[in-house]
Amino acid sequence: MANWHQLRKRVHLVCFLIFLALPFLDIIRADIPRQRFYFFGVELWINEFAIIFLALMFLMFLVIACSVFYGRVYCGYLCPQMIFSEASVWVETWIRRRVTKKFGKRDGLSRALFYAVVAAGSVFLAFVFISYFVEPRDLFRRLVSFDIHTAAGISGVAVTILTFLDFSLVRQKFCTTVCPYGYLQGMLGDGNTLLVHYRDESRACIECKKCVRVCPMGIDIRESPFQIECIHCGECIDACDEVLARLHKPGLIHYTWGERGERLSDTTPRPWYRRVGLRDAKRVVVLGVLTCYAAGLTVAFSMRHAVLVQIAPVRATLYRVDESGRVFNRFRYSIANRSHRPSAVIFTIRQLPEATLALDGNPVRVAPGGTTQGEFEISTPPKSQSELVRHFTIETSTIPDQVRDTFPMTFLAPAERQKP
Ligand code: SF4
Ligand code: SF4
Repeated sequence: MANWHQLRKRVHLVCFLIFLALPFLDIIRADIPRQRFYFFGVELWINEFAIIFLALMFLMFLVIACSVFYGRVYCGYLCPQMIFSEASVWVETWIRRRVTKKFGKRDGLSRALFYAVVAAGSVFLAFVFISYFVEPRDLFRRLVSFDIHTAAGISGVAVTILTFLDFSLVRQKFCTTVCPYGYLQGMLGDGNTLLVHYRDESRACIECKKCVRVCPMGIDIRESPFQIECIHCGECIDACDEVLARLHKPGLIHYTWGERGERLSDTTPRPWYRRVGLRDAKRVVVLGVLTCYAAGLTVAFSMRHAVLVQIAPVRATLYRVDESGRVFNRFRYSIANRSHRPSAVIFTIRQLPEATLALDGNPVRVAPGGTTQGEFEISTPPKSQSELVRHFTIETSTIPDQVRDTFPMTFLAPAERQKP
């Protein structure tokens, strides 16, 4: 007999720890003040749109795939709103019981203590939540200096108040009034999606209503498996199993693959892909798209350079000729060091013999997380060029990574320099 309640509480604890760790370990954070996006420890700059887009699409499709395969397993097992709502209900009940045991029934005292605990918890949760958007050490400095004047400080106060109201008053009502995910699930789910289903062909239900009493959403699963409130948590399954076990009967509520499909606990031998929910072409397509996004993201990360160099010709004037007849072409460069250590970039010319590159400080040094830009000139000696346009390459090499990059360029010279 599965114990879904115990499994859920363990998953909730793991999710809570992950919720805390994600922004602090830079696994996921959209750092608004610094305009950076952190994804699994990699610091992405806001102009790395392709990778950020792929990362967001991957996460979105992961949620969609999860909903198509396993219904509202996210709501019941992984959602922070549900985890903290249930924790808040548990804390409220625990305080009321302790107060009643010690002082007799004192509703006012119980509520005051409960609000005090939720207030302290709200400051902590708001801090973690805002850490997804502001660097945690910076945020902590603002918190201890009671910064309530800047935009970040005002947002912090607002999030703390909303968190307090959410977990003291709203709690699970949020899922059926504000959150769109439940409605979205109605569109994503189909006849093969995992759901919680009441089946009583032998009319064994004893009407004890324990399944209703334990339901965190306060519904009766016997009415329909498609109620918008049902988060597929499985608490009613445990309750019914426990009640009917005393009568030596199996429970009447189960996780099933759709309304008509077999039970999750069914032990009839089946191919592994059917057991994990890969049951039709739609799911193969969803998994295929998810794999494509994961592959695209992996390729984008592997092609990413920690030091990004960009070079473009300055064509406001095509070229410049000095009094000795030497021809100059001007180029503009920009370097972004997206790593955490100092870097430098060496510029070299290829396929343009006799040309010289005039750049102050070659290699160009860039501080960690810094950017620099500037211009340089490439020149060729008088009468060295027979064509108007010559194609050549500027090569860059980074220190210390030794990553090379090449930039195809053209060198322009005046028409009168052409040899007859
Ligand atoms: S009906 Fe059952 S599965 Fe649905 S929310 Fe209530 S307890 Fe959870
Ligand atoms: S817990 Fe089981 S037996 Fe009791 S009312 Fe619910 S479905 Fe019927």
